Amino acid sequence: MSARPESARPYRGRFAPSPTGPLHFGSLLAALGSWLLARHAGGEWWVRVEDLDPPREVTGAADLQLATLAAFGLVSDGPVVRQSERGVLYQAALDELLERGQAFFCHCSRSELAAAGGIHHRCVAAEARAHPAVRLRVGTGTVIGFEDGLQGHFEQDVHAEAGDVVLRRADGYWAYQLAVVVDDAAQGFTDIVRGADLLDSTPRQIHLQRALGLPTPRYLHLPLVVDGEGQKLSKSMAALPIDATDPLPALRVAWAALGQPADRLPASGGVTGLLRTAADEFVPERLPRQARIPFAAPHNAPDAHAV
Ligand code: GLU
Repeated sequence: MSARPESARPYRGRFAPSPTGPLHFGSLLAALGSWLLARHAGGEWWVRVEDLDPPREVTGAADLQLATLAAFGLVSDGPVVRQSERGVLYQAALDELLERGQAFFCHCSRSELAAAGGIHHRCVAAEARAHPAVRLRVGTGTVIGFEDGLQGHFEQDVHAEAGDVVLRRADGYWAYQLAVVVDDAAQGFTDIVRGADLLDSTPRQIHLQRALGLPTPRYLHLPLVVDGEGQKLSKSMAALPIDATDPLPALRVAWAALGQPADRLPASGGVTGLLRTAADEFVPERLPRQARIPFAAPHNAPDAHAV
């Protein structure tokens, strides 16, 4: 497959939520940020449902997320694909890596790995398992760096910090890293905009792209919203679902959290008008260049504009 420079292809970005629950403010930030950057570049913005992990999936969450995004005026420009329906593509990529000896079956159990330091560098399995995992070999000295659109240069020793990456889990489910790399390439995304909690995953994804001969898109990791104590949102008020019946206050707070001046948005009107203005007024250089931003106030409060 040819690795055309990203600049030669028209911008296509995406938002790829996992249906593990309703969208919260952190998800809205990633959705709106990726949408604004796509519109600013005159490009497309697609949504992908990452329903790869049935044990963690909440029934109905995918449809609810799509309905919530629509209520916020964020509608996919392309077909909404579901990863649960794309196993054939993942299998083809896996077969290619197995044939070339870049991937291997791994019979190690969780406890054996934990005893060996938790990161897989070589198999330590005492016995063969009926359903082994499949891993990508990550050799010594696999140091991968890239220029993040917001966080600057980021580098990771993938061998030391991640070890051999799981591609298919021992329970038979596809691993996120394989599915995301295959889909980002198959769907022609030039730009990946997502939360900084995934910054750590990007070097292993680039390593996997290289192993599969796929192009590397541009990456931009938006700050992660944290609560007052610097904790991820999961246990704070900001982890509450965003209110699809009243999208404007949360959109305004998300706009401000993306470093954009509140007074540029219309004081009244609906979602469509607000987003149109937001797309025109958005200045990427104002995005906060940090990995974490505190969530300052409940986004649905009447004074939410003040944040
Ligand atoms: N599905 C992942 C999540 O919800 C995001 C994957 C990505 O943007 O690469 O955290």
